[in-house]
Amino acid sequence: MKRITIFALIVLLVAACTESGPVIGISSGLSEGRLSLRDEYSNAISRAGGIPVIIPVTTDSILIDEYVKLLDGLILSGGEDIQPAYYGEEVLNETVQSIAIRDTSDILLLDAALRAQLPLMAICRGEQLVNVYFGGSLFQDLPSQTESDILHSQTMSRSSAQHIIYLEKGSRLHELLGVDSIGVNSFHHQAVKSLAEGMKVSARAADGTIEGFEGKGTFCVQFHPEAFVSAGDDTFLPIFTDFVKQASR
Ligand code: MN
Repeated sequence: MKRITIFALIVLLVAACTESGPVIGISSGLSEGRLSLRDEYSNAISRAGGIPVIIPVTTDSILIDEYVKLLDGLILSGGEDIQPAYYGEEVLNETVQSIAIRDTSDILLLDAALRAQLPLMAICRGEQLVNVYFGGSLFQDLPSQTESDILHSQTMSRSSAQHIIYLEKGSRLHELLGVDSIGVNSFHHQAVKSLAEGMKVSARAADGTIEGFEGKGTFCVQFHPEAFVSAGDDTFLPIFTDFVKQASR
């Protein structure tokens, strides 16, 4: 009897040790022929108990479908501007910098992830991409198109707060952070102009800039919570633990 109990205990221990977290894909960027991604994204996911994998930029839709089959969740990461043609505008000025194949790759990835109903978090460029995908538009160059005293392109360290955002009651973001306002970092020269139909704003800066929205199976933020979590600041960790939990189902 005793031997059986010890055996059962060993089986339980082995099961506990081999239990793995959900696999979370993170879209990557391209920089001079190299795939690029800040390690803050993968650090934040692993700190939250997920297994981060980096998805290469590719325009091969069959390959993207295969990647999505391997994933339990997807993060669309930050990066270059989306080509304004995707929301029916000409390029405004020289500040708008795009990489055509990354746009194609990210749109294929978003499309495949939505079809597979993967939990989806979109950060910065990712947030803007989701808005454009569902029919919204962007400010191409926020400083020249809007009047604001707020600096949205900070020079301070990536894990320090540059401006405050005000959270919408009833949003998932508000629920997760449990506060009405909070300081965030800011590294964007574009932002949502018209929000896609069916999406709900979750946060705004004092100048009205949309800093987060949710809907249609997506959770989107304009700021970079992963930079805080990666630096060991747990303020925004609930965003990632909740995401990993959703991806575990
Ligand atoms: Mn901002």
